[in-house]
Amino acid sequence: MAIALVACSGGREKSTTRYQPPAIPEVKCSIDPRRLGEVEKIRDFGNGRGCGVRNAWRVYSLQGVKMSQPVVLNCAMVNAFATWIANTMQPAAEDRFGEAVTSLDVPSAYACRPRNNVRGAKLSEHGHGNAVDVSVFRLQSGRKVEVEQGWFGSRKERRFLASVREDACGLFKTVLGPGSDRYHKNHLHFDLQRHRNGGSYCR
Ligand SMILES: [Zn+2]
Repeated sequence: MAIALVACSGGREKSTTRYQPPAIPEVKCSIDPRRLGEVEKIRDFGNGRGCGVRNAWRVYSLQGVKMSQPVVLNCAMVNAFATWIANTMQPAAEDRFGEAVTSLDVPSAYACRPRNNVRGAKLSEHGHGNAVDVSVFRLQSGRKVEVEQGWFGSRKERRFLASVREDACGLFKTVLGPGSDRYHKNHLHFDLQRHRNGGSYCR
């Protein structure tokens, strides 16, 4: 019996071979996200085209810092994001501004899309809930630090953004932002992609 399947990208797979979507990676993590903030366990899911999340959580806030919208991340990303918020971001905010960050604009977490939204490109880590983007830091006083403007903004803002970005490297396996390429001028991208050499890719 021939099964006709329409490939989701490229349109090249028109042979009789069944399209095999990439496997959704297993996710292990050490800390139960319930200890890290307002989160909700959701059922693991996959869309049959390679996107989906294992050990999936919906995150409303982490370490007392509110997300601009509820985001879906895998458990390992929740752990890493919470660690970065508590150990890197808040100390940097106290250091530069003398106050804490109360909320983060997170334009993207789980999203089934190719890298950089470029058609035909490899599936983004966002497709596995293994990445998060941060575009704005909102502080207690109402001050906000936007990645796009702040990168070329006051000395304090520039230093703050540079340190939260640099110190994310290692904790996250990929860190991108303004200057990385034309796709990251207005946000910081953090993910836990496993790179071939086992190291981190930060630029
Ligand atoms: Zn991203």
